[in-house]
Amino acid sequence: MNNLTMTKIVATLGPATSNKNMIKKLFEAGVTMFRLNSSHGDVEIHKNNLTYIRELEKEKKTLIPVLLDLQGPKIRIGNLDNPIELKKGEILKFRHQTEMTDDIIPVDYKGMAQDVTSGEKIMIDDGKIQLEVEKVENEIIYAKVLTDGLLKQRKGINIPGSQGSLDVLTARDLKFVEFAAQNDIDYLGLSFVRKASDVIKLRELLKEHGNETTKIISKIEKPQAVENIDSIIEVSDGIMVARGDLGIEISTEKVPIVQKTIIRKANINRKVVIVATQMLESMIENPIPTRAETSDVANAILDGTDAIMLSGETAAGAYPIESVTMMKKIADTVEESPFMRKNKFPRKMIEAEKDSQAMAIGMSIADMAKKMPIKAVIALTGSGFTASFLSEGRLSVPIFACCPRKEICRDIKLYRGVFPIALDFNGKIDKKSLKKADKFLTKYMGVKEGDAVVITGSVPELLVGGTNFIKIHVVGLTD
Ligand code: PGA
Ligand code: MN
Repeated sequence: MNNLTMTKIVATLGPATSNKNMIKKLFEAGVTMFRLNSSHGDVEIHKNNLTYIRELEKEKKTLIPVLLDLQGPKIRIGNLDNPIELKKGEILKFRHQTEMTDDIIPVDYKGMAQDVTSGEKIMIDDGKIQLEVEKVENEIIYAKVLTDGLLKQRKGINIPGSQGSLDVLTARDLKFVEFAAQNDIDYLGLSFVRKASDVIKLRELLKEHGNETTKIISKIEKPQAVENIDSIIEVSDGIMVARGDLGIEISTEKVPIVQKTIIRKANINRKVVIVATQMLESMIENPIPTRAETSDVANAILDGTDAIMLSGETAAGAYPIESVTMMKKIADTVEESPFMRKNKFPRKMIEAEKDSQAMAIGMSIADMAKKMPIKAVIALTGSGFTASFLSEGRLSVPIFACCPRKEICRDIKLYRGVFPIALDFNGKIDKKSLKKADKFLTKYMGVKEGDAVVITGSVPELLVGGTNFIKIHVVGLTD
């Protein structure tokens, strides 16, 4: 039986899971999309993982979207022979270099000395280590340690509030964009987006590489991105609430409200949205999550997110499969609860789309799902529009999307409640195609004879563009 969990699960691959066997197990546990994190590992590792995923797709006769996450302008500590123990009050020295020399700690960005001023905070390792800049002299940054800690190599550095002089795409990212453009990557994640033009720049770059299909997910993790959220949503295909860096850049207590705001805006604008980072963090080391983590996953779903993401839990944790299983259980439980928005489009979306045929049809289907015992919606969707549009109505039944192009099927699979199926109506709702559908639905999708389904979408024969019909169909009653 197919996995019909309505909320989608994204799992990051890493040392714990970079092999075909683990990828298969993660998929079988409930993963919708895999994330390749270009911050770690070289192109070769990601290429291998991509090959395993595409092999698995064929084996399972399904489609599996892949997100390649670009590191963006993240500054990191360079290589250290051993972790360094830090004591509160001591002064550390940092300089742009690759290895530790004497007592100077390496950082991988040349411009960092220009980007900081005395009195400013420097946060390392997701804020676990906090420093305050004393002075900058001869390209060396002198900073006071504010709390005891252990400094490990390659950890990320944040200078909250700083505009940052680094371009949104670094030389490292350019290599990965080229890789994505030439390989079968469905989504690119753009880190540290500040404004809409950052997204447009990546899109143009993809075009220069001859790629017009890879979708862009903007990662919201800078205060400037929160300020410019409307224009960023407009030019992006999807949004990630990247809470790791966001929590440092805007401070942690603001994250929950920003999360709710971003999700709502993405929903209204019909853009897919992912909530990421620390969702089941303690499962990196433990077989069960904390109650706070369980609540966090549940609340992200109640906020209206399409997808929930695992990072370290699946990339480097001791319980990657258990983490996915746990997320799926939480998602299934929350989806069944009376607290879910069900069969209802967001009010603001109804207002914004009030003249659209798709909204009239969508609201009718939402109403049908409430009043009739329908089992599923079948959406005939050429561009993916009908399926992704209906997804925002948070239907209580799955949307089976029949789309002729596999890249589009993969993209829309990330939307809440949308499941692409390999069923072709050949643009016609006639006896022959309905019989074919019945066979497919009963054989593979758990639908039974006598069940009612709603068929919708766009049929070119009807000569009206966009979503242009609704048909109620009782499975097995086609003669
Ligand atoms: P990262 O992005 O894991 O690539 O840093 C997600 C986040 O910052 O939350
Ligand atoms: Mn980040």
